[in-house]
Amino acid sequence: MLPALLPDPDMLKTGWKCLCPRCKEASLYAPGFTLDVRKECPNCHLRFDKSDSADGPAVFLVFILGFLLVPIALWVEYAFHWPVWVHAVVWGILALALTIGTLRPLKAYIIALQFKHRDWS
Ligand SMILES: [Zn+2]
Repeated sequence: MLPALLPDPDMLKTGWKCLCPRCKEASLYAPGFTLDVRKECPNCHLRFDKSDSADGPAVFLVFILGFLLVPIALWVEYAFHWPVWVHAVVWGILALALTIGTLRPLKAYIIALQFKHRDWS
């Protein structure tokens, strides 16, 4: 049997909402604007110290955002000829906003994938 080529929509939803991968009800993260994962789920008591996403989310974001933003920036340059400082401001702010906005969900998605495919006991 071939492995599934498309991501599991349920895992994507769990990651996007930053929820516990087992009960899908409590937040994976400690309160506040942080990337710190809780020690355990307050709802189902799943211990999150087995998870280790390491640099995975940041590396994926570098590749995904670079793949998306660089061609768009090149197209804008050839179509509109913005000054260099406008490119630096626009693409810098956009890259920073997309990174901050998607890093937590991507880390939660990777932890959900680890929960699904690894021995968590
Ligand atoms: Zn839970």
